[in-house]
Amino acid sequence: MKSDAFAALLDSLSTLTPSQREQVEERLLQISGRNKVQEIVQGLRPSACTACGSVNLVKNGTARGMQRYVCKDCKHTTNPISHSPIARLHKKDKFQAYAKCMAAGLPLRETARIVGIALSTAFRWRHRFLQSVVAHQPEVIEGILEVDETYFRISHKGQRGLDEPRSNGSTKGLGRGRSRKHWQAVLVGRARGTPLTLDAVMPSMSRFEVEQALARHLDPNQTIVCCDGSTSFENIPTNLKVPIKVAVASYKSPDKCPTYHVQSVNSYHSELKKFINRDLKGVATKNLPHYLAWKRLLKWEKEGLLPEDYIRSAIGLQVINTKR
Ligand SMILES: [Zn+2]
Repeated sequence: MKSDAFAALLDSLSTLTPSQREQVEERLLQISGRNKVQEIVQGLRPSACTACGSVNLVKNGTARGMQRYVCKDCKHTTNPISHSPIARLHKKDKFQAYAKCMAAGLPLRETARIVGIALSTAFRWRHRFLQSVVAHQPEVIEGILEVDETYFRISHKGQRGLDEPRSNGSTKGLGRGRSRKHWQAVLVGRARGTPLTLDAVMPSMSRFEVEQALARHLDPNQTIVCCDGSTSFENIPTNLKVPIKVAVASYKSPDKCPTYHVQSVNSYHSELKKFINRDLKGVATKNLPHYLAWKRLLKWEKEGLLPEDYIRSAIGLQVINTKR
């Protein structure tokens, strides 16, 4: 390429949209024969030996395009993603295409077709990609934290050998009743005015369990909890010393302060239900934590989350629910 044309090309780079920039990066990777995983891992170093915990690690060649390290104490070799959920998956060159499908919230069949992998592989990858993200919750919330619970019908979708007919979590089939045993509680917290979202699949909505789930996100000097009048939240002011503001349902109530509402968390619940019950046509209850994590990732797109961030998340790097 002539030097003036090359200079013009370099100049034009600053005007690219995020999606165009991504296409350019992908093309350059393709040309260099590397994939996105190798590129991401390039800047990482294992913090300690996964076998003995020693920090005495030295570089020791490469394998599958990734730097390997050897422990000087026990001779165990490792790479920066050895113990991540996606370490042993094959076809890593297809991860970026797969991550794009996840970022678009696509169902499995479509994803498998686009990426060119088996349906069973697409399913396995989905859960490996989301495994680490379950723990990618926000730290202490500063300001108003709206909390509320929502329920998903217990579902054994995909499970074989059940005596009862399977239910996929839709409103049809088993568990039509209102009995607690047919429903799984999920606690969601949204920090007002920020994109931070926390969630937890709850063993129960007892005061003790709610306190356990929220404790690490609350600070008496920084957090105000906003909730409805449910007794599940009663322990918080006494045990965690965090003030609680109860959102009054009736707009006519004389005590109602417009600041203290749970509209943000309730609208998140609606989005979550649409995603799980309608877009994904119900999910198995045992996999619910993964789908909550996926929804958190999708929600973070407004914050500039890129498809490759799904790969970063999968190897355990927290890219969502972080403060800037
Ligand atoms: Zn070691």
